[in-house]
Amino acid sequence: MRADEAYLDLRGIHKRFGAFTALQSIDLAIRKGEFVCFLGPSGCGKTTLLRIVAGLETQTSGRIVQAGRDISVLPPAGRDYGIMFQSYALFPNLSVAQNVGYGLVNRGQGRAQIAARVEELLALVGLPGSGAKYPAQMSGGQQQRIALARALATSPGLLLLDEPLSALDATVRVRLRNEIRGLQRSLGVTTIMVTHDQEEALSVADRIVVMNHGVIEQVGTPMEVYREPATPFVAHFVGKVNKLAAVAEGERWFRCGDKRFQSAPGTGADFRAGREVSLYMRPEDRVVGEMPADEPLRCAGTVRAIEFLGGNCLAEVDVEGLPGQPLQLQYSLNQMDEFNVHEGARVSFALRADRLRVFPA
Ligand code: ATP
Repeated sequence: MRADEAYLDLRGIHKRFGAFTALQSIDLAIRKGEFVCFLGPSGCGKTTLLRIVAGLETQTSGRIVQAGRDISVLPPAGRDYGIMFQSYALFPNLSVAQNVGYGLVNRGQGRAQIAARVEELLALVGLPGSGAKYPAQMSGGQQQRIALARALATSPGLLLLDEPLSALDATVRVRLRNEIRGLQRSLGVTTIMVTHDQEEALSVADRIVVMNHGVIEQVGTPMEVYREPATPFVAHFVGKVNKLAAVAEGERWFRCGDKRFQSAPGTGADFRAGREVSLYMRPEDRVVGEMPADEPLRCAGTVRAIEFLGGNCLAEVDVEGLPGQPLQLQYSLNQMDEFNVHEGARVSFALRADRLRVFPA
């Protein structure tokens, strides 16, 4: 394997279930040590893709290479990965230690060696000394830690996580995802996690693969996917976004209601004049406060409603000159005090030209 070669290379993966196409033309290269999330709505094919990598499902066509080895038709046992599922999938009649050591027993290791490795793994996932317990005696979060220890037992080259946190309550989920991330970093194990939770993907992934209807919409770092969504689907699926109907006027100028906006270079194609487009803008991509009269993206409006989100709020603003297209704007609590933002208040702000994204309508 060359240094610049992908650790896991998926080429032209297609998957059909009868007449239904679940995956189409999937090309994806994952580097050694990367933490990659497959993110998308229910039914987009992310679990199917993970199962194909694991050999639990067979692709209709396409090639998979792991560490320079073509594994396209290898059965699961011939592949080098550990896997962890959403439902804990622990054996209820086996002790914690037996669960964790399950994959080691068939590898011809001695009892003492296995016991030592199991204890090492339990310590790694924060459950030292719990080997004699049974899964039913442990909480959901603890069971997932055991499942993680089991997935890591053979020191696999690849760790596959299929929605491992979605059955847990919010606090445990956040704690465990940070622990998984920390562990993954320290072990350097190449990892793929399936999730439908965009916040989870943004917080842990090195790169996110955004999927929809069996195709990849975008592959990028969390920042790229959030700031530079490649498609309207990605803009909507990852984070909150405002969408404004507009008509192109050339040279990146757009007419939107009674207002004209010029987007910055690189925010989308320069559409020919007359073309109907959509301008996308995140709620935080605005400058607040009084704007100079010559500021081209200057707006004013009235706060129609406020949604409290903790450290900040989303204000729904009816913008003068943009009838029927209220904008959601984010304000920190301090900004709300400073600029006197409340329901019924009049607010001034400017959109950020460099943050507008433009797509065909
Ligand atoms: P979820 O988050 O709901 O699990 P997903 O993105 O992981 O969704 P998949 O489980 O990969 O989606 O399924 C993708 C599509 O393929 C779905 O429409 C599903 O109904 C279909 N599908 C999956 N497995 C099979 C199967 N064994 N037979 C027929 N159709 C299947």
